[in-house]
Amino acid sequence: MNTLTILNPADGDLIASLPTDDAERVARKAAAARAAQPAWASLPLSERIVCIERFRAAIVRDENSLARTLTREVGKPITQARNELRGLQPRIDFFLARIGQALASEIVFDEGGMREEIERLPLGVVANISAWNYPWFVGCNVILPALLAGNAVLYKPSEHASLTGQALTRLLHEAGVPPDVMACVLGAGETGRALLAQPVDAVCFTGSHATGLAVAHAARDRLVHLQLELGGKDPGYVCDDAPIDLAAASLAEGAMYNAGQSCCAIERIYVHERVHDAFVERFVDVVRKLRVGDPLDEATEVGPLARAAQLQVLQGQVADALARGATLRLGGGSGPGPGHWFQPTVLTDVTHEMEVMREESFGPVIGIQRVADDDEAVRLMNDTRYGLTASVYTPDGQRARRLLSRMAVGTVYWNCCDRVSPRLPWSGMGDSGLGLTLSLDGLRAFSRPRAWHLRG
Ligand code: NDP
Repeated sequence: MNTLTILNPADGDLIASLPTDDAERVARKAAAARAAQPAWASLPLSERIVCIERFRAAIVRDENSLARTLTREVGKPITQARNELRGLQPRIDFFLARIGQALASEIVFDEGGMREEIERLPLGVVANISAWNYPWFVGCNVILPALLAGNAVLYKPSEHASLTGQALTRLLHEAGVPPDVMACVLGAGETGRALLAQPVDAVCFTGSHATGLAVAHAARDRLVHLQLELGGKDPGYVCDDAPIDLAAASLAEGAMYNAGQSCCAIERIYVHERVHDAFVERFVDVVRKLRVGDPLDEATEVGPLARAAQLQVLQGQVADALARGATLRLGGGSGPGPGHWFQPTVLTDVTHEMEVMREESFGPVIGIQRVADDDEAVRLMNDTRYGLTASVYTPDGQRARRLLSRMAVGTVYWNCCDRVSPRLPWSGMGDSGLGLTLSLDGLRAFSRPRAWHLRG
């Protein structure tokens, strides 16, 4: 059996060696999930709800150890690891409060002896291949609604968040979800490929666009329900009337939180020329003061990158920008090893010729571009193959609505950014994905409707 080596991204120390699931083990777990799913689906919803309530309580109980595990394996600052676990609780509350409504049968017509009803059935066996950057959020966005709807779940956490994936699975088992109904498969891309080869009913993937395409190809010959939550190149626009301090603080947090490793991190900033210089000065000041360091330290705001390979991507983007005429205002390079460190980096005088304004950075690197007016800002913000989120900073609500309604994205923000709400759908346009999670629609996404025509 192969093993997965888990290294601490802050210092390169070995944290754990875990046995991986080869194709045979994945197939066995898939067969067991198929066999176990009908009994799980036949339980009253209230019994599945009780399991998820117990899971929620365990997260509250074990917060410190779970946060520490997450920080040690992905390098996320400990306060942000705790924030993720705390942010999960209202998310679960929303799922629990609304799942009954989401799955309830509906009578949509009843006249002259003819009655029409919609019933909601589980999809069956759901394969969930997940990212490492917010493993609790992105894992639970799929796993919990899927389980509540009566599905079995085969869950492959990212190899970079395997310990968290194991903990999530263990807590669900302890909460009463049968092990065959909620199975974790551990490993890297090979395990993901083995999972996709199983006769599952749905594939829900969170990760990069490149891997998302590979997943879509693997599923193309079967009519499975496909959901892809992919990357972004999310823009923010600072209008000429924007409160500079608020915009700089909000956008700096959006760009640098979790070292920029969020799908909805701010990746590009456009600033009206009238306030450009003042904004850049304030923004650089905020970013310079961020405390970079040991992610287990309570004071740390920016930790290491989770993956060593991303250091090269960021170095390449910075070098490309500088070669094409950008100005380096802050940072610009890797930190001292061991560990995967990259300095918070701010570039100005950037253009869309530069990779840093086109390709997902997924790190603490941001380009700021001067624009002449709102139309230029809109044109540049939409000049991307991605379409996850966009934000606008202005005190003028009408102006914000006008601008945001022209954005080709799934989520828009006025005077805020990098925010996810369980009450709202989470979805991307273009290369940012297919399908959705969260909101009532996101809960329903793990069921299929059956139409009843009843005469009598
Ligand atoms: P990756 O695409 O590298 O990996 C995602 C998952 O796919 C991992 O579990 C990975 O396993 C697995 N995988 C890799 N290759 C294959 C394959 N050939 N077949 C099946 N599975 C495979 O993404 P990251 O984990 O690095 O996550 C970062 C990306 O996720 C960013 O682009 C980010 O924007 C996006 N993201 C999007 C979100 C959204 O809601 N839209 C939310 C969070 C992140 P392993 O890691 O073991 O190689």
